[in-house]
Amino acid sequence: MKRYLFVVALLVGVTLGFATWIFSPLKNAVKVADSSYNVIVRLYFYALFALFLATGGLSMFVLFPLYKVAFAPKAAYSELPIFALWMHIFKVMWRSATNQQYRDMYPSKITDPPKLNTDRNLVKIKPTWQGDSSNCDACTFTCCEKLQCPLFGKNGRCLSYDSLFFKYFYCGRYPENQAQIDYYDCPKWALK
Ligand code: SF4
Ligand code: SF4
Repeated sequence: MKRYLFVVALLVGVTLGFATWIFSPLKNAVKVADSSYNVIVRLYFYALFALFLATGGLSMFVLFPLYKVAFAPKAAYSELPIFALWMHIFKVMWRSATNQQYRDMYPSKITDPPKLNTDRNLVKIKPTWQGDSSNCDACTFTCCEKLQCPLFGKNGRCLSYDSLFFKYFYCGRYPENQAQIDYYDCPKWALK
């Protein structure tokens, strides 16, 4: 038990350390290479997930501001469905642990830079796409709905947009390979 509490306390300390560095003016005072910053941001997420795993998700309730700044810093607290988010993180972790195809879709390296929008150097719009090139309004069943993402706001707005999670992990980078396009059966994007 003592060892377990020590590990949890260590994880809390490490997570707080990363958060302090990422979200405080400290990072402006200390010059680090972009690739080092990218690594630190990803390590912050790994620490959050490790803490989540170690506490059965309790950490998300106790340290919710730390999760919020990572996943949805611009959303109001009242907009965030915390229990649905808690369940969703379990689902994503389970899928990542048990589904090789799902893991293979996200081959980003730990030093890769953030992306806020689809990388047009990698993909083009399918000739069959009926909608506008700048949005996904013509998609009948969006990837957010397929994922049953709890960060899909009531008015169709992504509550996570522009967050570190959005830019470093999934949505801002989508799609980066054929496996992602196939997984979501995306009617808009094709690899170049
Ligand atoms: S599945 Fe493709 S077209 Fe539909 S919302 Fe997602 S990215 Fe847009
Ligand atoms: S883009 Fe969609 S799937 Fe990604 S976080 Fe936002 S709502 Fe969720």
